[in-house]
Order: sequence, then C-alpha cells, then structure tokens
Amino acid sequence: MNRVLIFSFWLFLSSIVSGQTADKIKTSSGHLTVNPVKHGTVVFQWMGKVVFVDPVGGAALYEKFGTPDMVLVTDIHGDHFNKDTLSAVVEEKTIVITPEAVATLISGNVKKRITTLANGKSVDKVGLKIEAVPMYNLTASRLKFHNKGRGNGYVITFGDKRVYVSGDTEDIPEMRALKNIDLAFVCMNLPYTMTPERAADAVREFKPKIVYPYHYRGSDTSKFKKLVGNVSEVRLRDWYVR
Ligand SMILES: [Zn+2]
Repeated sequence: MNRVLIFSFWLFLSSIVSGQTADKIKTSSGHLTVNPVKHGTVVFQWMGKVVFVDPVGGAALYEKFGTPDMVLVTDIHGDHFNKDTLSAVVEEKTIVITPEAVATLISGNVKKRITTLANGKSVDKVGLKIEAVPMYNLTASRLKFHNKGRGNGYVITFGDKRVYVSGDTEDIPEMRALKNIDLAFVCMNLPYTMTPERAADAVREFKPKIVYPYHYRGSDTSKFKKLVGNVSEVRLRDWYVR
C-alpha cells in the first residue's frame, strides 16, 4: 500500500474509534438523545426538537443535528459563546436564550431571536421549560473568572425529565439545593471552576439520577466517579475527541 492509502485507512479507522456515542434517555414522551459535542457543549434531541447548549467551534460541528429550535448560551467566554458559530447555526425558527451579559455582545439577526434570562428566572418556549440558575466562583483567587449573576446554568425540562447544565461554576449552594434532577452535566477544571472532589461532594448532596462530568479538561474524572460512588450513576464520555 502506498502512503496515501495507508493514511486514508488510518483516517477511516480513527473516525470510527473516535466517534462520540449519543446516549438515549427514556422520558414520558419519547427518548431524549444526549450528544456530547466538545468541552462545554452538548446537543439534545427530543420529540423532533433540537437544543444546542453553548455552540462554539464552527458551524460544521453542528451540521448533522440540523437547525436548532433552541440555543442556550451560559456565559461570555470563548469556550461557551462564539459570535460566528452562533450566527451560523441560528436560523429563523431558533429561539436563543442567554444572560444579559451575552446578549449585549450580539447584534443583527441573532439579537432579534434572543430572550434574556437572569438567574432565578424561567421561561417556556418551544414546549420546553428553561430555568436559569446561578453559576459563579466561590474561591477568592477564582472570583475573577465568573462573578455571581453574570452567567447562567440551566435546568431544561424534557417531558418528565429535568436536565441540569452547570455552566462554569464551583459547588455553590444553589447547585447543592437543586431538586429532582434526572440528568446533570457538571463542570470541573482548574483554575476556572472546581476540583473533581468539590464537584463530587456537591453531586452527593443534590443527587441527580445520572451525572456526566463535562467541561473537565485536565481533571481526573475517574476520581470524581469514585467519590460520587453509588449516589448517582456517573457516565464518563470523551468530550475531547476532535
Ligand atoms: Zn468554560
């Protein structure tokens, strides 16, 4: 075989090996499909509806999911909000939900589709209830990363399932006080958010049925899984394959 053939074969093989698996979760109306995309980005599909959380990294990553009915943005930083990716994926029918701090950075067509939500507020759109929850740092040396009130974590209700996406946060009291969470996406990475130990400690308190560590670059997720123990089902997925 010549080199080009070998390289093509390798590309083919690695595309199979690195393919991220989507999880299907049973809800009161059909299945919720969970697609880990990258770092802090996840795509949900449910009852023909498509929800992007923090689409960044270029529109090509999202082509296979089609036009989103809803896009949620958690915060202003580049790993959560990218103006170009956002305007490329948002279309006429898309509802965009952001905190005020993100909305002020957007103009043009996307701006018209934004509903801003402050921490503690909620809204019903396209048949989904969206609650904005706080996300912020607690540790003195990390306060500069995420101040309280700027960004939003979200609780999204799909049928009878409540899904929590933490955004960038430490183990704040508002996370610990969450109730009836079926699926949780919890961040952990230093210096921006928290350690696997703090994340596991919070999870042991609010007890989601299933928890996915996400936004975990450089963190030991196996330690997190061990510390959570049998309080929640921990699902380790590769969020960094691309
Ligand atoms: Zn982040």
